[in-house]
Parts: sequence; structure tokens; C-alpha cells
Amino acid sequence: MQYVRKIAQKPHAMGTAAHANVRRYLVGQMQQLGLHPQVQETNVVNNAGAVSYVGHVYNIIGRLKGSANNEQAILLIAHYDSQPNALGAGDDGTGVAALLETARALQQGEPLQHDVIFLLTDGEEYGLYGAKGFLKHPWAKQVALVLNLEARGNSGSSMTFEMNPQNGWIARQFVQVAPYPFVSSLAYEIYSRMPNNTDFTIFKEAGYSGLNSAFIDGFVHYHKLTDSPRNLNQNSLQQHGSNLLALTQHFGNISLAHTKAPDAVFFNFIGSWVINYKKDLNILWLALTTLLLVVTFVVGKRREALTVGQVAAGFFLYLLMLVIVVGLFLPVNNLVLGLLPYSHTFNGVYSADAFFIGYMLLALGLFLLLSWAVLRWLRLFSLLMGVFILWFVLLLALFLAAPAASYLLLFPLLFVLGGVLVVFLLDLHQKQESFGYSMILLLSVVPAVFLLMPIVQVVFVAFSLQLPMGMVALFVLLLGLLLPLLSIIGRSYNWRGLPVPALMLLLLGSIEVTLAVAHEKPTSERPLHSHVSYFLNADTNQALWISAFQKTDNWNRQFFPNPTTGSLNELYPMAGIPYLKNEARALPLAAPLAEVVQNTTAGGTRVLRLRLSSPRGAAHLEMVLLPENAAGLISAEVNGELLDVQPSLTDAGPAYFVRLHGLPPSKDAMLALRVKSGSNIRLLLYDQVIGLPQELLAQPRPTYVIPEQGRDSNLTVVRKSYTF
Ligand SMILES: [Zn+2]
Repeated sequence: MQYVRKIAQKPHAMGTAAHANVRRYLVGQMQQLGLHPQVQETNVVNNAGAVSYVGHVYNIIGRLKGSANNEQAILLIAHYDSQPNALGAGDDGTGVAALLETARALQQGEPLQHDVIFLLTDGEEYGLYGAKGFLKHPWAKQVALVLNLEARGNSGSSMTFEMNPQNGWIARQFVQVAPYPFVSSLAYEIYSRMPNNTDFTIFKEAGYSGLNSAFIDGFVHYHKLTDSPRNLNQNSLQQHGSNLLALTQHFGNISLAHTKAPDAVFFNFIGSWVINYKKDLNILWLALTTLLLVVTFVVGKRREALTVGQVAAGFFLYLLMLVIVVGLFLPVNNLVLGLLPYSHTFNGVYSADAFFIGYMLLALGLFLLLSWAVLRWLRLFSLLMGVFILWFVLLLALFLAAPAASYLLLFPLLFVLGGVLVVFLLDLHQKQESFGYSMILLLSVVPAVFLLMPIVQVVFVAFSLQLPMGMVALFVLLLGLLLPLLSIIGRSYNWRGLPVPALMLLLLGSIEVTLAVAHEKPTSERPLHSHVSYFLNADTNQALWISAFQKTDNWNRQFFPNPTTGSLNELYPMAGIPYLKNEARALPLAAPLAEVVQNTTAGGTRVLRLRLSSPRGAAHLEMVLLPENAAGLISAEVNGELLDVQPSLTDAGPAYFVRLHGLPPSKDAMLALRVKSGSNIRLLLYDQVIGLPQELLAQPRPTYVIPEQGRDSNLTVVRKSYTF
């Protein structure tokens, strides 16, 4: 934890002084730990369509020698840079701290066979630059296995959500070794389909084997100033560290020659008990479920628990119930969002747990109410058989789409089918008041509750109020299997024919949600997120306040007395995204400089080398290159790295956009251009300082307001144009 406190004193995004301080501190700590750290300074280019991104990174790399002297190494990774408006205690101070603690523990024990490389990457938050940079390092070829630690919040279990494809071997090792295994092939299936972005992505795409772990609770603090050491859940850090140490010790002493095997199915069942089997076995389980569905249906019909017509009605009515409950949450959620004092839905909410409980109570109440209405004329087991059929259809779809995830529906359905079949065979459906009836049904729903409830919760944590419908749909699916038990409760507390439990739940849910809404009122503990940046055009001496959001808050309203909405065309020729804008007072800020170092022409090509610098000590630079004639620009290099820029077609002609993240302490960069001789080129140069010009804040930022997250929030940008 002391590491986290040191790292997360201030935001330490690349290009800032705090970033350099954190780096010095970490190099010092790694020296003390005997890791012989080196700093890999390099430039990395990401070409993304019409924009070229360049990251100037300083990776910190240390190494512990193994006893085998085989040069095969395990690579441990965490990133030490933070987002510009975040303290980065969780993301990724915890990862860094876990790596250093692992190094300390390893130094105290017997040496491992394999080497261990400790990589603290830079520039993860601006484009995974450090991870890409490390691939250029000679040690990258010696890496046999990668373990990456991340965070998407500041609490919750350390979840190993991502693995290399062909995870059969590594998943089994992980389950056997990790002291806090929290893992599922469902997450693996989801992440292998998502364009996600952590350092691990780079290594996975490069074909490395490995594991990626993160905790995701406390999402509202992610990328914010409230991602502070004080708000951090230390259990999350502990789990990160304990898992990393155990895994490193294990992998450090076994053969890493074959780290890939066919995909496996694995998931936590109860607590840290993980079930793990080969994916091929799924087909057997599916066949058994199909058989059980048919047998249960036939037996149920023979024992007069259901009729074909009623089951068909049950299927459609359950589907309708599902649609109604999920559908009602759309207006309910919109109402709640409208009641929140001020927030952008993608930021999450402070009282996420209270909202979760409130929404669950409401969904349960609604479901009970609807099933009370349906069961007035449809028999219970006909409706339940309808539930089974819908489940089975969904199971088949999931099996085809993502076989390793199908366990989620398979085992709940299988066990409940088994329970209901026993009920039919013993004719207990005729004696629904009996103890045996309740007990059998209760036992049969254990897998359903233990498998689905954690997923329902994770889905809510992941999407929060932005998209609660997925969580509600999963919950209603679970409630379908619980119908017989729920109907016992409904019957027991019936008062004069009124569905008392349903109404009570709806009332309780409403109260809980109302309290949760009241709790979102901004305070210094739970500040609101305000988006504003300042732009100065040093050529025209015109300045602008801009905000990414149309709605202003109590504080940033001061900057927008006469706002307009539109793209930032006056600043960027290729701008498209609309912003809220207001004229601002122009400050005499020093503009970024472009000085000619070389300007020579040979063989029809002019070589122009420019030294770019920021007298204000900016963190980042942006460049827009506007060649006078369309084919004028032949090539462009930043800090010696060739760019592959595609032009955007603008009113001002073709425009090439380059972003340079992380100016070094010298605050300069080299831009080398090759242009057709005789053709001029215009350069729009921008330097970005993180923070607002304090002299313009008539009302300083109160403690209940913090900058909105993001790379375009809370900036002071000066633009200057040059023609060469
Ligand atoms: Zn991160």
C-alpha cells in the first residue's frame, strides 16, 4: 500500500512532471529490490485511419535471474502512467505495487528456475504505447508467459477475465494455483470478441500466452481524481498481489514449453471453488439436458401436471413477462437518470450497490405481480415448462455462438429439470404444501442461483445505469426457474386475494432507488464530473471555452454565458464532433514553437526538419499538416519514426493529423517532412497543458467538483500556425 500512496499522490499522465517523479521513484525502488532496472526510452506509432498517434514512452524494466540460466522468462506487467485527470491508485497503482511486492517476496525465497522480467509500462492510457514499445526490446523474444494486472475501478475481486486463445493449459494451471481464483470462460468468450484495450491485448495479438486480471467494482472512480489511495479497497490489492506471487512462483518452476491447449470451460461455483473441464464435454451435458427436457415433459403430461396447449401458452406468456419487465425498466431507468443531480451515464454512480438492490427488488416485485396474474388461469407447471423451453432455446443459441459460455444456462436448467422430474415421479405436484416438494425444488435451484446471481451482479457493475436492461433480463431468466418456489411464497402471504409480497417488493424497491438517487447529491466525497477546456488561437488572439456536454453544471456554467454548439472547425480543419462553445478572454500565453533545423532541396524533394517545442512545458503536442497542393506531402516522421498518415479532406484541402503524447522533459520533438519542391506546407501546431488557466476562473473549482475524465478534458491548449 505504501507504493500506491507514493504513486497516486497526483495525476501522473505521460508528459507531466508528476509522471517523471513517479518514474524516478519506481526506478529507485526497483534498484533497492535488486532488479537492476533500466529505462527503455522509445517512440511508438499507432496509425488509426486519418490520425497518427505517436507516444514518447519510458518503460521501466527490471529482471530477476533464474537458476536454470535458460533465458526463458515470465513477464509481469502493470502500467505506471495514469489518466490525465486521475490519481491512478487503482488503475494501475495496484498493479505496480503488486509487481514490486512480488519482487520483494521472490528475493526472499529460493530462486525460481526461470527469469522474471518486471515491466512497468508507460503510456497505456494514451494508446498502449509502452507495451508496443517493449516488443522492440531484445528481451521480448525471451518471454514465455505474460501476467498483466489492471483495474477498471477501485474495489472488487481480482478477476482473471482474459487469457490467450487455446486456454486449456493456462486455465487449468491458474485454477490450481491462484489463492483467489475468480475466473470464467464466459468472460473469456466475451473478451475474445470485444475490441478491448489493455497492455495485455498487445501481447495476446503478438501470440504470447498469458493471463490478464482486473477488478472492476467502484467503476465511478475509474479514470477520476477519486481513484485515490484513500478510496481504494485494499482487499483488491491484496488479491492482485497474492495471485501474482503464487502464479509467478508456480510458472517459474515448471516447463513453459507448451503453454497452449484446446479451450476449456471453467467458472466459480461457490466462492473460490472453480469447476473446470474440457470444452468437448459440453455436448454430452447438452444431450443429457435435451433428454431430461423431453422426459420431464412426457412424464408431466402423463401425471397430469401440464397439457400441450397450456405449455405453449406458458412459453409465450413467460416470453411476454420477460419483455414487459425488461421493457418497463427502460422508462424506469430514464426516470432515475433524469432525477440524478448531475451525471454522465457512462461515469457510473456512487451508490451502485444501492441501485442494484433497488432494481432487483423492483424487478422481483414486477415479476411476482405478473406471475400472480398469469397463474390465475394457467397452471404452474405449464408455465414452468414454458420457461424450460425458452431456456432451452437460449441455451442452444449460446452453445452455437460461444460454447465455453454455455455452462451458464446449461447447469441451472439441467438441475431444475431434474428436480421437477422427481416432483412429477413422486406425484408431489399434487401435494404442493408438502415439505418434500419445497425441499426438492429448493435443492434443484442451487446451481441456478449460485451461477447466475454473480453474473447478474457483474453485468450491473459493468454497465451500471447506462444499460441495466441486460442485468434485468438475466435476473428474470433466473426468476423463471424459481417460479414454483416463488409461488409458494406468493400463496403463503396472500391477503384477500391481493399479491401482497409483490406490492411490498415494489414499494421497497421504490424507496431504495429514491434513497440511492438522494445519495448521488454531489459532495466532496462524491464529487460531480465537470468537462471544460480552454483553447487559444495565438494567430488571431481569439479564445474559446469548450465542453463535451450540452448540459452545464453549477460550476462550469460560469464559462458558458452565451453558448453555441458546433464542431471545433475554427481550431481543427477536420473537426466533426460537436462541442458546447463560448468565447473566452484571450490570455497572453506563450505559443508552441516550430524552428527550422534543416531545409534542403535535392532531386525535386525538399527535406524540412523542424524542432517543435512548448515554452509552457506542455504534456502533449498536436500537429495538422496542410500541404499547399494536394500531393505535396511525401512523408512525415516524428522523432525518427515514420508515420503512415492518411489525409482528411477538409475545406482547407487535405489535412494530416498527428498527435504526439508525452513530451520529454526537454519539451521538444523533431518533425521531419519530405515535400515536393516548390510547394509550401502549412503547420498548425497545438500544445496541451493539463489544467485550466487559473487566472480565468472567477469561481474556483469547489471541492464537490472534479474534472471529467478523458484526454480532452481540463486542458489549456494554444494553437499557432506556421508556413514553410
Ligand atoms: Zn489501466
